[in-house]
Amino acid sequence: MVCQLRKINYDVNINWQNLQNIESKKYICGYCGNAVASAQGWLSKMHNPDTGQSGNGPTIYICHHCDRPTFFDIGESQYPGAPFGSPIAHITSTEVAELYTESIDCMRVNAYTASAICSRKILMYIAVNKGAEQNLKFDEYIDFLDNKGYVPPDGKEWVKRIRDNGNEAKHHIMMMDREDAEMLITFVGMLLKFIYEFPGMLKSV
Ligand SMILES: [Zn+2]
Repeated sequence: MVCQLRKINYDVNINWQNLQNIESKKYICGYCGNAVASAQGWLSKMHNPDTGQSGNGPTIYICHHCDRPTFFDIGESQYPGAPFGSPIAHITSTEVAELYTESIDCMRVNAYTASAICSRKILMYIAVNKGAEQNLKFDEYIDFLDNKGYVPPDGKEWVKRIRDNGNEAKHHIMMMDREDAEMLITFVGMLLKFIYEFPGMLKSV
């Protein structure tokens, strides 16, 4: 199974009506993953009836690669956000493939804690699949993967940071930021390549 990162029908061209030429903005399109410098979309104005203040509001830009719209709020937060992570082939577990896709999809909507929870579930699944006992703590699963040689020697600092981030009380949810979620996806992606993709490539040649 190849992990599908994008669920867009690219066969369909969209011709947006009444597009405006606006100030160019650079961003990574959350749909197609391309670096975009778009100057087409729509501006808005905002008015606060309580204070009487007016000003520029959110903007929408159209990607010139895939024609999909991206919304930027007045804090410049991007929806959908830039994708993070790369496709991984030969994942034999449907649950792992779907969780990995979900973890990456969560990044597009800035749902970093949800992404991190998916990535942590994958790490626990891999550890159990490789012989770890069930019902261990998260950091014990990370130690298991490390001790069994699934983490390369130069990955010790990664293990320490992921352990530290996962060091939480059993029924307490720790909110994650983008950096935490990216670190987990990168670590999970590395393991998935070693455990599924590379062995699968050898079998297919
Ligand atoms: Zn695009």
